[in-house]
Amino acid sequence: SVLGRIDAKEDEIGAYLSVDREGALKKAAQVDERRAKGESLHPLAGIPVGIKDNICVREMPATCASKMLENFVPPYDATVIEKLNKTDCVYLGKLNMDEFAMGSSTENSAFKKTKNPFNTDYVPGGSSGGSAAAVAAGEAIVTLGSDTGGSIRQPAAYCGVVGLKPTYGSVSRYGLIAFASSLDQIGPIGRSVRDLAMTYSAICGRDPMDTTTVSREYPDFTKNLKSDVKGLKIGLPKEYFAEGVTADVKEAIMKVAKEYEKMGATLVDVSLPSTDYALSAYYIIASAEASSNLARFDGVKYGYRTESFGSLEELYENTRSEGFGNEVKRRIMLGTYVLSSGYYDAYYKKAKFTQQLIQQQYADAFTQCDLLLTPTTPDTAFKIGENESDPVKMYMNDLLTVMINIAGLPAISMPCGFDGKKLPIGCQLIGSKFSEQRLFDTANCYE
Ligand code: GLN
Repeated sequence: SVLGRIDAKEDEIGAYLSVDREGALKKAAQVDERRAKGESLHPLAGIPVGIKDNICVREMPATCASKMLENFVPPYDATVIEKLNKTDCVYLGKLNMDEFAMGSSTENSAFKKTKNPFNTDYVPGGSSGGSAAAVAAGEAIVTLGSDTGGSIRQPAAYCGVVGLKPTYGSVSRYGLIAFASSLDQIGPIGRSVRDLAMTYSAICGRDPMDTTTVSREYPDFTKNLKSDVKGLKIGLPKEYFAEGVTADVKEAIMKVAKEYEKMGATLVDVSLPSTDYALSAYYIIASAEASSNLARFDGVKYGYRTESFGSLEELYENTRSEGFGNEVKRRIMLGTYVLSSGYYDAYYKKAKFTQQLIQQQYADAFTQCDLLLTPTTPDTAFKIGENESDPVKMYMNDLLTVMINIAGLPAISMPCGFDGKKLPIGCQLIGSKFSEQRLFDTANCYE
């Protein structure tokens, strides 16, 4: 039925870059057969799942929505896929995104623009726009996205679905094509908190292939899923409700806060004064890492290669000029600049210093409350093309999400109503490291 939904909606929405219809039907039939035999199966068995196109699934294309990797088919599974394989879920195909996950609208895809299922004149958000739009349109039950500065939460907010950016180090990045390695994290997008908890339980854990993953007990997060917030202290950081956040959004979030209060939680005012510097720090750190990570796309090892070159230098230059889109080039130039001698201290070092400040301020906030409640984005979805020629305006979308990545914290975005244009509003719950269970419980309670 989900494939039927893809047939009915895909022309309009454009969430997928590739659909593996045969593979999906074959897998579904196998699961049916095993179920008929009375085998006990994982709750995700037979569930149709879509995967963002920067996560490697063996023998499916992984283009990263870039001309550079247009014909790249990885010969291996990412660790999250190896783990999902054990659940016997069904892979539907690969989802559209901003090229190399750089963007906030999915307009930076080299192949197509994805539309917001609530109103197709609007963007679905990004960079995991395909992952969020597919769930919202019923073209998948759950999807995987990646979040470096908001790329799961912002599209989840724009498309009225739930998304989790997990604690840095709780989900392996092995097989995720890197953007900014110290910030990237894979996470689920779905229609319910239980679906998120189930998928997160399946993909998290220590992985010897990614040394940044943390070894600890990872429970089944669906087992003790509560819906009780009695005694919970919820912090409202004043900087997250400041200028730039629309009245509709503020009102919707305050309504959520009041609901929690009615259910027995206490609201506390907190302050995160470094919020003003977060966006600058993020775009410096993320671009610096991207410029280094993307150096591997040189036309020699794999991916796109130019047809016109007379020397090795020209091979590199033409391959990269022709293979990368404008936003990716902008990030590489920015990243190379801030890492250059003479500028390193002025930009990169300062950004890393700001990162420490931000981490400290969150730690201080969490001595006053158990979790934070904020808007996911300052406004709802914008029109396709509206911000395309103004990168700084586009970056403003990430105002309220990037700090969480800089601090390595977990956060959930959940839908909490609509604005005057009938577009969904997202509410963000931010926790301390490894507090996913509490985030699920709290979000579940509101849902
Ligand atoms: N929109 C942000 C950026 O363009 C975040 C992207 C992401 O989280 N992958 O960098």
